[in-house]
Amino acid sequence: FSSHPPEKERTLIVVKPDGVQRRLVGRIVQRFEQRGFKLVGLKLLQVSEDLLAQHYQQLRSKPFYPDLVQYMTSGPVVVMAWEGHQVIQSSRKMVGHTNPAEAQAGTVRGDFSLHVSRNVVHASDSPEGALRELQLWFQGQELLNWDCVDQFITC
Ligand code: ADP
Ligand code: MG
Repeated sequence: FSSHPPEKERTLIVVKPDGVQRRLVGRIVQRFEQRGFKLVGLKLLQVSEDLLAQHYQQLRSKPFYPDLVQYMTSGPVVVMAWEGHQVIQSSRKMVGHTNPAEAQAGTVRGDFSLHVSRNVVHASDSPEGALRELQLWFQGQELLNWDCVDQFITC
């Protein structure tokens, strides 16, 4: 074990407007808790077009970009920061393929969605992406460092 110490990472997970509107927030949060990841940031917000343009800066020239903006601003999103061993890579697996038709059953997209333009959730795709997106969506003081300190609960 000591030769493979845990790599503490953080990633950005966003429940997109369709996920909030379809009341899927709890079930998505549950999957990350169940896996053993630690919640270090959480908020509900209406995303601005400006923030979205920065978030999806690589997609601005895509034909679907205007629809993506309309979709992502159609209602509030739940923005989360999750921490844990290789959480970036693991959460991409948990979220599944971008196109729900190709997403495995057992993934969020494979279980809860059927079209690429309504795929319920976002997950950062790399360490560089995660750092950039966490800084974009969260103020520094909104991300908390915490540990289990209560002797009366197991953690
Ligand atoms: P991922 O969210 O899996 O990282 P991308 O970064 O490639 O996928 O795309 C970002 C988001 O843009 C997707 O999650 C989806 O909401 C939207 N999107 C991607 N490709 C398409 C497409 N062909 N048609 C409509 N929307 C798309
Ligand atoms: Mg992406």
